[in-house]
Amino acid sequence: MDIRSQFPILNQTVYGKPLVYFDNAATTQKPQCVIDTLCNYYKSLNSNIHRGAHYLASQATEQYEQTRRKVKEFINARHSHEIVFTRGTTESINLVASSFSQRFISKGDEVVVSAMEHHSNIVPWQLACERQGATLRVIPFDDQGILDLDAFAALLNERTRIVAVTNVSNTLGTVNPIAEIIRIAHSREIPVLVDGAQAISHRKVDVQQLGCDFYCFSGHKMYGPMGVGVMYGREELLEQMPPYQGGGEMIKDVTFERTTYNELPFKFEAGTPAVGDVLGLGTAIDFISQIGIGTIAATEKELTDYATGQLQQIEGLRIYGTAPDKTSVISFLIGNAHPYDVGTLLDKLGIAVRTGHHCTQPIMDRYGIPGTVRASFAVYNTRDEVDTICAAIRRIAPMLQ
Ligand code: PLP
Repeated sequence: MDIRSQFPILNQTVYGKPLVYFDNAATTQKPQCVIDTLCNYYKSLNSNIHRGAHYLASQATEQYEQTRRKVKEFINARHSHEIVFTRGTTESINLVASSFSQRFISKGDEVVVSAMEHHSNIVPWQLACERQGATLRVIPFDDQGILDLDAFAALLNERTRIVAVTNVSNTLGTVNPIAEIIRIAHSREIPVLVDGAQAISHRKVDVQQLGCDFYCFSGHKMYGPMGVGVMYGREELLEQMPPYQGGGEMIKDVTFERTTYNELPFKFEAGTPAVGDVLGLGTAIDFISQIGIGTIAATEKELTDYATGQLQQIEGLRIYGTAPDKTSVISFLIGNAHPYDVGTLLDKLGIAVRTGHHCTQPIMDRYGIPGTVRASFAVYNTRDEVDTICAAIRRIAPMLQ
C-alpha cells in the first residue's frame, strides 16, 4: 500500500515548491478514507444521536457507539464506557482536572506534573489547585530531556492526590518511562493521568498493561479529524467523579428540586457530540491498524535517525532533546538565529515547520532559549524531504548570521 498517495493535501506546491510538511506534531494530515468518512456522514447519515426514533438517528447512534468500541479495542480498555469522547486532549485533561479535583483534592493537597508538560497539562491543574487550595509540584528533567525519576519519587508524599505526566514530549520527543512512573505512583496509591497526545499515533498504547488511571489524546494528531478526542478513565474513578458539564444526554432525570445523572460514559458527554468527527476518528484508527503501529514506529524511527544524523552535520545547528528513546520530533536552533526567522525562510522554500515555545514555556525556560524550530515527522514523510530541509537550512544559514 502506498501510504503517501492516500494524503491528497501532500500533493501540492506552495510558493511554487513541492510542499514538505514537517509539522505533524501540531497536526497530522488526513488520508482520503478519513475525508470520505466525513463527507459520507454529512451526505447520507447526519442526524443527532441517541433518543432519535428514526432511521438516520439509529444508524448514526450505532456507528458512534461502534466507534467507541473501536477506541476501546485500540487502547485495550476494559470497558467501552471508560471511553469518553471530547473535543481533544485539552478538553480531556480539563475534564479530569476539574471533575477529579472536586471529588478528590482539597486544601493542602498536592498535584505532581513534569517540567516538560504541554500547557494543556499544566494550566488545568493550576486552575484546579487554585480552586481547591492545593499546590502544584514539578518533576525536573536533565539536559538531554530525561525526567529525573529519583526526584519524582521524592516529590510524592501522603498529600499527593494525582500525577499528570506526558507519555511523549511534543517539544523534545522524549518517550517518558510511563510504566515506571505509574508503578512508583501506584505503590503509594496515587492515580496517574497520562497525556497521550504525542504518543497515540507513534506507539502501541495499552491502558490495561500500563495500568494508568486516565489516558487522553486527540484525533487530529493521529490522522483523524480536528474537534474530537478521547478521555479514557478507569471505571472505579469515573463512577466517583461528578459531571464536568451539565446539559443534554448527561442526565437521567431533571426536576428543579434535584437532577440525577446518566450512567457512564454519558455522564461526561453533555450536549450534541461531533458525531461525524467521531466516525472519522474510527476510520483513522482503521488506517493506523491497517499499516500497523509497529510499522509506523519503525518507519518514523528510521527517518528520525537519518534526519538527526544529517542535521547534526550542519555547522552551528544544536538539537534540543537527545534522549535515547524518542519519537519523530527534532527541535533545533541554528547559531544565534531566532527560530521564527528560520521558520519563515523555510516556509518560503515550501517547508512547513513549527517555531516558538510549542506551548511548553517551562522547557524553554529550562534551556534559557526563546523557542526552537521543530521538525516532526509522520509515516508519510520521506528521506528526500529530509534532504530538502537540510539543503534549505544550508542555503538560508548565511542569511541568518
Ligand atoms: N499535550 C501535548 C503533549 C500536545 O502536544 C498537545 C498539542 O500539541 C496537547 C496536549 C493539546 O492537544 P489539543 O490541542 O489537540 O487539545
